[in-house]
Amino acid sequence: MVDLNIQYRQLQDEIEGGMRSVLEKCQFILGPNVAAFEEEAAAFLGAGHSVAVASGTDALHLALAAAGIGPGDEVITTPFTFIATAEAIRYLGAVPVFVDIDPRTFNIDPEKISAAVTPATRAVLPVHLFGQPADMDPIVSLCERHGLLLLEDCAQSFGAAYGGKMTGTIGSFGCFSFFPSKNLGCYGDGGMITTVSSEHADSVRMLRNHGSRQRYHHDVIGYNSRLDELQAVVLRAKLKRIEQYNQGRRRVADLYNEMLAGTDLVLPFQDGKGTHVFHQYTVLTTRRDGIMDALKAADIASAVYYPIPLHRQKVFAAQYRSVSLPVAEATASQCLSLPMFPEMTEEQVRTVTDVIKGVLS
Ligand SMILES: *Cc1c(COP(=O)(O)O)cnc(C)c1O
Repeated sequence: MVDLNIQYRQLQDEIEGGMRSVLEKCQFILGPNVAAFEEEAAAFLGAGHSVAVASGTDALHLALAAAGIGPGDEVITTPFTFIATAEAIRYLGAVPVFVDIDPRTFNIDPEKISAAVTPATRAVLPVHLFGQPADMDPIVSLCERHGLLLLEDCAQSFGAAYGGKMTGTIGSFGCFSFFPSKNLGCYGDGGMITTVSSEHADSVRMLRNHGSRQRYHHDVIGYNSRLDELQAVVLRAKLKRIEQYNQGRRRVADLYNEMLAGTDLVLPFQDGKGTHVFHQYTVLTTRRDGIMDALKAADIASAVYYPIPLHRQKVFAAQYRSVSLPVAEATASQCLSLPMFPEMTEEQVRTVTDVIKGVLS
């Protein structure tokens, strides 16, 4: 799906040089590279503050905790996402309330949110899935109207913008993942929270470090969720090139669009409201198994993100038995993600699309 080796080879001197100096100084956790990365990422995104944490899942967990979400609170989110979005809600004893998605963008459908608001609703957590920003304007107005907090799951959308703002700077908190395969990825686990509020930033900083502002003084029960210096070295090198990488993804998406035009695949829809950074290039097809088999036979990867919507996962199924979200269910049965990385060549895209066309013809 991705060739991470290309960027490593391009950045090898910078990354290995940075890592060597970390190893020589032996300062591994929350050191100068983490601090510099936080500043550089906040500047790039136009976020007031950014706080690096140990993973994207932790970013969601700590942001929800800092937002004061707790037992019995309802958080509205999408069923068509990675499990971590809902897991983080459950870590706090809160209840994920799933609202169906837009069939074209695969993001939460803003028009369906207000029907899900109850007196227990505290927050809305849209995901900018596959790199395309959710339609935030109506979601922002709805949150203002109902007095709800807005948090963004930006695990797949680093550098994607909506209405002149980067994702992660629209709601009260932005939650990012730097898992290696994400469009900004490190060489292990990593994550980050953005926020405009200095109080919120302070809460998250405290929560990531055992509830402590000052060493061995603990104000609240916190967590161990810190980014390490070696990961920050990788992230600083890649952050400098993120626009070029995202541009590369858009170029690959254009090539796919061109070469797959006229087939009966439903190609990714761009709503034109935000910039899509194509973390994934995901099509809809009723012939998914046949296409996947043919790609596999040609030694080409493909993947189903996501085969089971969250309300149908074993862990949630009993609680959500009466919930029906037909668009998410239909999308999960037809979605197929094709290989996507910034450096993919026209020839590689053609090889993939030729195999697909062979199945469809
Ligand atoms: C990857 C991902 C996460 C979790 O990030 P980790 O760094 O793997 O913990 C959360 N939400 C979405 C939408 C993701 O894609």
